[in-house]
Amino acid sequence: PLNTTDLIEEHRICVCVRARPLNKKELTTKDLDVITVPSKDVVMVHEPKQKVDLTRYLENQTFRFDYAFDDSTTNEMVYRFTARPLVETIFERGMATCFAYGQTGSGKTHTMGGDFSGKNQDCSKGIYALAAREVFVMLGKPNYKKLDLQVFATFFEIYSGKVFDLLNRKAKLRVLEDGKQQVQVVGLQEKEVKCTEDVLRLIEVGNSCRTSGQTSANAHSSRSHAVFQIILRRRGKMHGKFSLIDLAGNERGADTSSADRQTRLEGAEINKSLLALKECIRALGRNKPHTPFRASKLTQVLRDSFIGENSRTCMIATISPGMASCENTLNTLRYANRVK
Ligand code: ADP
Ligand code: MG
Repeated sequence: PLNTTDLIEEHRICVCVRARPLNKKELTTKDLDVITVPSKDVVMVHEPKQKVDLTRYLENQTFRFDYAFDDSTTNEMVYRFTARPLVETIFERGMATCFAYGQTGSGKTHTMGGDFSGKNQDCSKGIYALAAREVFVMLGKPNYKKLDLQVFATFFEIYSGKVFDLLNRKAKLRVLEDGKQQVQVVGLQEKEVKCTEDVLRLIEVGNSCRTSGQTSANAHSSRSHAVFQIILRRRGKMHGKFSLIDLAGNERGADTSSADRQTRLEGAEINKSLLALKECIRALGRNKPHTPFRASKLTQVLRDSFIGENSRTCMIATISPGMASCENTLNTLRYANRVK
């Protein structure tokens, strides 16, 4: 299992995978676990019931990432290896992004926002909250204290190529690009936060906004990208920004054959944005001068995070363990593999 001494320092792009345990539904339908994490950076997709023989790696579908988190890994542990190293980046005037990518139901929201299933919503253990907590700890350090930084948060959703402010009753916002290639989300609420509790309140507000007014809350949230940002400002000027993104479910490819036009369009839009995202991260990793950020609204609003010397990103690919999800799981792993 992973140990904190396994932390890889200083990489610009980190790609990892997280498997969740079989859930109640999978257990009642007698779905079988086809995922094994044999070491701290390898994940295998194999035949169910088959005894996994580690010498037979090649006969299975095996993928290597920076880290592989098995189904016993806590959010806190995932956080330590993924988002935590990026908190320092924004104090050093950098831009950081952390994405959760995967099929609907694979654990993206559980990882990023915390657990919202059932009545007791607990967002205090999600990566949004853990990162925010760290920001306030860092603010108190002598080096950073003297900078007199202020902390702000934004929370918005991108649905079918349109931007909605989750901290302002889902107001629809326009995205503008000025002459200097700066991208601006016009009117996006930036709320000042003074402590972790302030942040938790905003996450709750945004999350209830995200799921309210929908006949099927899950169906909607699985089709939208949610972007939560922590912004550091010094005398009004941006010092650093951390964007944490709970991406739309990547299984939408199937929707392109749907009879419903709206569903088809949504599916096509999601595909387009996830492809653009992959290209932008690859460009960042290869220091390529041209980032194809204009290809989707998601990459356009994140433009300033994909360019610049001091930009770092992390992708957490979440996978469901069941055999019924196998095809989606393999698609997720292949995509994540290509991002590296
Ligand atoms: P997604 O946002 O990718 O659609 P969710 O985060 O909503 O998926 O997770 C689906 C369900 O699985 C939720 O009930 C969630 O509580 C549960 N779940 C997800 N990841 C884990 C995990 N690592 N451990 C335990 N339960 C999990
Ligand atoms: Mg979700």
